[in-house]
Amino acid sequence: MSDAETLTLALSKGRILDDTLPLLADCGIRLTEDPERSRKLIFETTVPGVRVIVVRATDVPPFVEHGGADLGVAGKDVLMEYGSNGLYEPLDLNIARCRMMVAGHPGANERPGRLRVATKFVNIARRYYAEQGRQVELIKLYGSMELAPLVGLGDVIVDLVDTGNTLRANGLEPLEHITDISSRLVVNKASMKMKHRRIKALLGQLAEAVEARRT
Ligand code: AMP
Repeated sequence: MSDAETLTLALSKGRILDDTLPLLADCGIRLTEDPERSRKLIFETTVPGVRVIVVRATDVPPFVEHGGADLGVAGKDVLMEYGSNGLYEPLDLNIARCRMMVAGHPGANERPGRLRVATKFVNIARRYYAEQGRQVELIKLYGSMELAPLVGLGDVIVDLVDTGNTLRANGLEPLEHITDISSRLVVNKASMKMKHRRIKALLGQLAEAVEARRT
């Protein structure tokens, strides 16, 4: 946990940073430098005592759980994969929305016998197929999942789908909907107690900003 005066918020570059910065701006919090144009990893904001650190998306949960940051923004996919028992998850920011899907060639999921599933979301996939009572072989990948079925690496993939364009461009289609995904605010459990007033105030402002965008 950062010192008692400071609130440290962990964000990841790309979609989450792009969608979170406008929400923060609605709360009067602006970075004093453009993180996309800087190699820095710690950014001050226009609010004294509030700073932003930039980490990999999959590192947001461990940074927040173990006190490298008081708060963070992480996709529900990352949180489900990480197992978020060690974190509070008080607010759905309703940003970076997409769906976790099983995808592949038409009918690929109906193949009899043990299905081969290529994915970087092995924990989510394992849980999903266990609930379905279906035997699968999981193949862990770190990216370009859409390539796997094209070269016979697995029957289907478990991946995030937004517009569906990436699947379509590769002759694949969404086959089963696993869950809806959006980004969540996560909070370190000790910080929630020790910095309760500040965190509660920020949570309230963010909740208002999210609500205002819904309407
Ligand atoms: P699309 O072609 O719009 O369906 O986007 C699919 C690609 O973008 C896949 O490679 C996904 O892994 C990635 N993607 C889509 N939505 C998200 C999201 N909310 N967060 C992270 N990656 C995403």
